[in-house]
Order: sequence, then C-alpha cells, then structure tokens
Amino acid sequence: EAKHNSRGSLHFFDSQLEQAVSERMRIERELRAGIAAGQLRLHYQPQVTMQEGRHLAVVGAEALVRWQHPRQGLIAPGRFIALAEETGLIAALGRWVLQTACKQLAVWKGRPAFADLVLAVNVSAAQFLEPGFTQQVLELLASTCAPPGRLKLELTESLLVQNAEAVIATMSALQAHGVQFSLDDFGTGYSSLAYLKRLPLQQLKIDQGFVRDLETDGNDATIARSIAALARGLGLTVIAEGVETAGQRDLLAAMGCTTYQGYYYSRPLALQDFEAWCLRQAGVAA
Ligand code: C2E
Ligand code: MG
Ligand code: MG
Ligand code: MG
Repeated sequence: EAKHNSRGSLHFFDSQLEQAVSERMRIERELRAGIAAGQLRLHYQPQVTMQEGRHLAVVGAEALVRWQHPRQGLIAPGRFIALAEETGLIAALGRWVLQTACKQLAVWKGRPAFADLVLAVNVSAAQFLEPGFTQQVLELLASTCAPPGRLKLELTESLLVQNAEAVIATMSALQAHGVQFSLDDFGTGYSSLAYLKRLPLQQLKIDQGFVRDLETDGNDATIARSIAALARGLGLTVIAEGVETAGQRDLLAAMGCTTYQGYYYSRPLALQDFEAWCLRQAGVAA
C-alpha cells in the first residue's frame, strides 16, 4: 500500500513537471512566432519633472514591451522576458523594441511638442553583452534617422557583476554618439560603489521597492535619500519609479529627486494615448 502511494505521488509530480515543461515550450513557440508576426507592442510611461511654480513638464518616457497574444490578450513583460532571455529570443525581441523606439524618436523629431522627449529603453544583460550590440544600435539609429541624444538605455546592476570592462567599453562607444544610460532598479543588485564611478552613466533610477512604503518605512526613506545624495555627488540625475502618491513625490522632492515616473502621473499608455496625455499636460500643476 505504502509502495503504491509513493509511486502514485511520484507519478503525480512527474506529470506536473511535464505539464510545466510543455507549457514553457508552448509559450516559447508562440512567442517566437508572435515576434515574427508582429504581436509585440510598446507602451509609453511618462517621466516628469516639476518646474518653477510646480508646473509639470514631461521630459520623456519609458518604453515598455507588451505581447498582444491572439487568444490571451495583452501580456505583461513579467510573463515572457525571463523566458526570452533563457531561450535566446531576447535578441529578436530586443532588436524589435530598439527599432520601434528609434522609429518613434524619428517621428517625434518632426513634431515640436515631442521633439525634446528622451525615450528610455530596457536592455537585458544578455542583449547588451552580445558582440554586435554597439553596431546594432548605431545602425538602427542611422537607418531610422533617430536623434541618438534622445535615446536612453536602461541597464540593471546584474550586468555589472559579469563583465566590467566589456560593459564600460560598450557604454563608452555608444555614449560617444550621444546615447544616454540609466541604471534601473538601483539598490536591488550588486553594484560596487567603486565601480559605479567608472561607468559613463547619466542617471540612477530608484527602484520602486524603496518608493512603495516611503511614507511609513524609515529604512526605505533612508535608502532613497542616500541614492539621491549618491547621484548628486556623482553628478548624475535621479529618477524615482513606482511613484503612486503625492506624498511619495513630496518626500522624494525633499530628498533632491528631480524626476518621477509612476501611476500617480500615468500608467504606461499606448502611443496615441501617451501623445494625447502629453498634450494635455501643458499648464497642468503637479
Ligand atoms: P522596469 O524597467 O523596472 O519597469 C517598471 C515597471 O513598473 C513596469 O512594469 C511599469 O509598468 C511598472 N510601474 C510603473 N509605475 C508603477 C507604479 O506606480 N506602481 C507599480 N506598482 N508599478 C509601476 P512592466 O511594464 O510590467 O515591466 C516589468 C519589467 O519588464 C520592467 O521593469 C523591465 O525590467 C522589463 N521590461 C519591460 N519592457 C522591456 C523590454 O523592452 N526589454 C527588456 N529587456 N525588458 C523589459
Ligand atoms: Mg526600466
Ligand atoms: Mg525599474
Ligand atoms: Mg523594477
């Protein structure tokens, strides 16, 4: 009887594992086909700053990828980016995102209300460390006629653990053409401060994990304040992500944070909604 039970549960485990593996393979197959079939979408989340008299100014946007699945609807990146990284699909996905962002920057270049916006694009470590990455970005900028100074690449600290010299070389090569860099999710990874000072960066991005409980958690407030001070000391700008309340924004402002992104201002929006949102902001108080 006991033997039967243990065999039974092993069997159960097997079939669960089997199911998970085949589910993964299904998503991989559908994502591969979906990229080729044009099912990826970019949404744009505003990045804003407060000017004199609490006047709100849109300084740019973060481009966030979504997958318009034929049966499941719009799928968030949390459900497919890691899989794309593990299967190598991130190369094709990342290229599509960069190309789409560059095309958009080229369109905005000709529209005064949008010409100064900086578009931030997330780049995975695997994608950034590919041998031809610098060339790919420069070719996409050239072929789309996008202004390189309006493109900002968001990197994460995980990248820095691996290949210090290669990362600095690639960043420097792109920065020489005007491309900017921001360090995403800052404070959640492993970057050494000694290393940070050598990176050709423009911006630190305070992770939303430190912003969420800012108003009630003194430790989070201390960390956010320290990141803002570190950025200032290194001559970098600092942006907070995940800003959901005026209270969070006010605390961040008092800490010396100058730029904000989060649901308090806007969720990530489809292109037309983002453009309409920007046009409505002129003259709106923060
Ligand atoms: P991330 O780069 O840290 O992007 C910020 C995430 O926080 C986005 O989730 C955004 O929608 C969400 N967010 C923004 N404001 C708020 C807020 O006020 N409250 C809360 N709770 N969340 C907020 P999303 O779009 O689901 O993206 C998740 C992650 O997927 C991104 O985190 C990024 O790491 C990755 N990702 C997105 N697009 C791309 C891409 O094109 N390429 C790569 N490699 N990764 C991407
Ligand atoms: Mg990001
Ligand atoms: Mg982030
Ligand atoms: Mg994050």
